[in-house]
Amino acid sequence: MTQVIRTSAELRARVAAWKRSGMLVGVVPTMGALHDGHLSLVAEARKQSDRVIVTIFVNPMQFNNPSDLEKYPRDEGHDLALLEAAGVDVLFAPGVDEVYPEGFSTKITVSGVSEPLEGAFRPGHFEGVATVVAKLFGMTQAGRAFFGEKDWQQLQVVRRLVTDLNIPVRVIGCPTIREADGLAMSSRNVRLSPEDRAIAPALPAAMERAAAAMRAGTPVAEALETARAEIAAAGLGPIEYLDLRHAESLAPASDLNAPARMLAAVWLGDVRLIDNIAV
Ligand code: AMP
Repeated sequence: MTQVIRTSAELRARVAAWKRSGMLVGVVPTMGALHDGHLSLVAEARKQSDRVIVTIFVNPMQFNNPSDLEKYPRDEGHDLALLEAAGVDVLFAPGVDEVYPEGFSTKITVSGVSEPLEGAFRPGHFEGVATVVAKLFGMTQAGRAFFGEKDWQQLQVVRRLVTDLNIPVRVIGCPTIREADGLAMSSRNVRLSPEDRAIAPALPAAMERAAAAMRAGTPVAEALETARAEIAAAGLGPIEYLDLRHAESLAPASDLNAPARMLAAVWLGDVRLIDNIAV
């Protein structure tokens, strides 16, 4: 049975009891509308922890666009059924007032790694992420936390946050789960029209071709330019960014001498797709 908990006081009591009996607690933070990508994190959490908490909180602080927040898909009943089937111990689903009570006034800024890419195009987004993730770590007291590589920059921001604030949690990154046609799973994909859904896989396909070209010696700038042209020709756009970056710092990378990551954000209709791959 998955127990649904809505307050941090109740959650703290539950976790304290687990910890008294020496259990290792894992947490999977999400915004709900769960899919197989989320469930892969749950499966990893179950492997690496004695008890698993999944959090569902659509965090207003990390939405820079009010209509994206309003249209964000929500279906807690369906999510709970998936979590039951996946063997999750606790679903922590607090309301906005529980997370941000009257008088709340703290914001966490992780500089550097949070500034380019998503940080540049979604002002305030990573302050919202860092603040809520720090709070979720405080509320869950988890020893391990599982995040998807799908949100590569977020994963780097969370790692920096945990190191800088000495938060006693081990952050585990898990690979991106994709549909059969290559599109990275995302809660927002349900908002794609059938026509847009059909052309969406052109994004990861162009990225994979560019990565292969780079590995084969094509200059980085040239491979990226070809990918941008292919993405536009497939009917996606506008492209916010498609770039090669150092995998950890996210500083610009112009060659493959250090671990590199290709990251993209592209509009398709009124849905913003993000994706990234190792190069
Ligand atoms: P979200 O509900 O979109 O905030 O995502 C919650 C967690 O699931 C984050 O750590 C995401 O990176 C991760 N996630 C989302 N989509 C995928 C995916 N396709 N594969 C792996 N992890 C994912």
